[in-house]
Amino acid sequence: MTTGRFAPSPSADLHVGNLRTALLAWLFARSGEPPARFVMRVEDLDPSTRDNDIAQRQLDDLQSLGLDWDGPVVVQSSRLDRHHQAIGQLTEAGLTYPCWCTRREVAEASQAPNQPGLPEGAYQGTCAGLDERARAERASYTTRPPALRLRANAATITFDDAVHGPFTGTVDDFVIRRSDGVPAYNMAVVVDDADQGVDQVVRGDDLLDSTPRQIVLHHLLGLAVPQYAHVPLVLSTGGGRMAKRGQATTLGELAHQGVPPQRVLGWLATSLGLASAAEVVTVATLLERFNPAGIPRTPWYVTMADEDFSPLA
Ligand code: GLU
Repeated sequence: MTTGRFAPSPSADLHVGNLRTALLAWLFARSGEPPARFVMRVEDLDPSTRDNDIAQRQLDDLQSLGLDWDGPVVVQSSRLDRHHQAIGQLTEAGLTYPCWCTRREVAEASQAPNQPGLPEGAYQGTCAGLDERARAERASYTTRPPALRLRANAATITFDDAVHGPFTGTVDDFVIRRSDGVPAYNMAVVVDDADQGVDQVVRGDDLLDSTPRQIVLHHLLGLAVPQYAHVPLVLSTGGGRMAKRGQATTLGELAHQGVPPQRVLGWLATSLGLASAAEVVTVATLLERFNPAGIPRTPWYVTMADEDFSPLA
């Protein structure tokens, strides 16, 4: 049986863009024949953004739109042992190496690429060839522990995205364990999706570029590769990511301005071509109307100025 998911990071309350992605992930899953399982995961790996109150508000907000999920919510920080076990498996297979490069050194090295085919800004393998002595010397310059990188051998991965079609990426030696010892996002997401039985990943298309890296990990760990659908983001009219700038973008802020979740749902549905302006809808209605092939392929541009809430009026 197909299993879809939503995996928010509890760094801030969900804004309308995140909510729209969550709605799409849920619609993709539940519109399946038969309806897919849909699971939830709190991606709180980063100790600096671990906030239980925000995590709870995110879940409450999703429920207030009418979204539901199966089974208990998986909390990523409770699975660190499993992430480290998978990192150990790759290390035992000789597929990792320690890297002392700072962000700046990585950026500088990427100005003079030495490996053909890697994307702009890719890691150039600076620490890949260090022997034990060179490692000891590198370590002696700094008190900062090394990160751990995967030997990806500039693998070229092509996958078929349900929204973008075929997508190809060449994979650099990316970090799988950060220098602070925290498993990297790409590592954790692969292991957690596999362990939750997720085989349908619907998420924002800002993560399209990360997917070839994740697929390499799926292959190396012997885990099945999910189907992917990277959906267009919501951008502010300046073309940037959805910024807050003091304007209402979360359910809490919108409620404060007198806009209830049902109207936000209607607004999201309108943006997806699933409802007419100002129509009152429920997720059950949207499910009847949803066709994965019909989702808009371009970003949804919104200005968060009051007059632009007219669709909600
Ligand atoms: N936790 C990530 C985020 O909130 C999403 C990860 C994913 O969907 O793979 O941006």
